[in-house]
Amino acid sequence: MTIPIEMFNEEHELFRAQCRRFIESELAPNADAWETAKDFPDEVFRKVGAAGFFGIRVPEQYGGAGGDHLMASVWIEECSRAGSGGVVAGINMHGLIILPALAQLANEEQKQRFLVPGVRGEKIGALGLTEPGVGSDLFNCASIAKRDGDDWVLNGAKMFITNGCRADFVLVLCKTRPEDGHGGFSTLIVEKGMKGFDQGKRLEKLGWHASDTAELVFDNVRVPSANLMGQEGQGFYNAMANLEWERLMMALGSIAASQLVWDRTMEYVQTRQAFGRPIGRFQVNRHKMVDMATGIEAARQLNYHCLRLLLAGRPCLKEVSMAKIFACEVTDSVATTCLQLHGGYGYMKEYKVERFFRDARLNTIGGGTTEIMKEIIGKLIGL
Ligand SMILES: Cc1cc2nc3c(=O)[nH]c(=O)nc-3n(C[C@H](O)[C@H](O)[C@H](O)COP(=O)(O)OP(=O)(O)OC[C@H]3O[C@@H](n4cnc5c(N)ncnc54)[C@H](O)[C@@H]3O)c2cc1C
Repeated sequence: MTIPIEMFNEEHELFRAQCRRFIESELAPNADAWETAKDFPDEVFRKVGAAGFFGIRVPEQYGGAGGDHLMASVWIEECSRAGSGGVVAGINMHGLIILPALAQLANEEQKQRFLVPGVRGEKIGALGLTEPGVGSDLFNCASIAKRDGDDWVLNGAKMFITNGCRADFVLVLCKTRPEDGHGGFSTLIVEKGMKGFDQGKRLEKLGWHASDTAELVFDNVRVPSANLMGQEGQGFYNAMANLEWERLMMALGSIAASQLVWDRTMEYVQTRQAFGRPIGRFQVNRHKMVDMATGIEAARQLNYHCLRLLLAGRPCLKEVSMAKIFACEVTDSVATTCLQLHGGYGYMKEYKVERFFRDARLNTIGGGTTEIMKEIIGKLIGL
């Protein structure tokens, strides 16, 4: 029996080259300007769509490429070259979370309305789970929709929503039958311009500067029943199922970015001189480089293990939770250590380590915190 060693085949590597060309020509050269402006134009979504990268995990009949998680992982790894965590967050929230969710759960009419233009980057989506009062404890969310004739009347608020201000539509998790516990949640597609829907509050942040992160408010918003996505009562389960992939995406992306910053730091420690020799020659710094390389490789292999499980259709909640914890902690440590190795220059914008340091900090928080991952693993291993 031959056990394959490489995760990706020739087709993936060709696709990787295509992704890299696009990212290095269309995204990276603008990253500094977009970070300074704390925004990037909607036009970028149309460019990503036109180049076909929003369709990676969308079936061909809706304009996608019908690719699997492996193809999506190639794109995620290459996105680390975009130079801005915020831009990547906006693009991938839409392309790799919202669109696959629509492909999986929306009905045919909704697919034509949101998925098809979404793949072209002509309609932009956002995901509304977190609220001002609850994040980790989603079960206790306060957003509620009551049936009135042919509409749902939605009240509540969502917090920290990526693409929040610009979104043409938001997948909003809310309670539709609170008395039914976990079976009382549904997902409503709330559209820009609906009366009572306020998406104007943009938030200032430590990192992800170019990303549009917003607070959304729903004040008696009448959402037509045609905008219920998936089955009524299944919203909580659907949201949890999709979080698994979101967490693995974060683990894959953070390790690819860590590798890039490690590479940059490797070059720096071999050229920067102190006391008559390159700083990388000091034992203490060599050990730092080795420890980081070891952590990155270990995290990458755990991520790939999760990918294999996912592709085989095997349950992997425990492994993905472990991968998210491990990758994000490695990334945190790489960010701190690489900044330290750059000395004062690490603190300066042009060395890019400071942006990575700020952007990477979110990984242990977003998409489920490290503490929540530990709670999940604890339950799954019988603690
Ligand atoms: C830039 C940014 C973009 C985001 N984008 C989106 C988005 O697009 N859509 C969306 O829905 N959300 C988004 N989020 C929200 C993100 O997923 C939440 O911030 C995260 O899930 C944590 O929720 P919280 O902030 O309410 O923290 P809390 O749940 O209030 O937690 C605060 C602290 O308490 C700890 N804690 C909570 N419960 C436990 C427990 N049982 N045991 C031990 N410790 C616990 C947490 O680990 C954390 O350290 C985004 C956040 C940011 C900052």
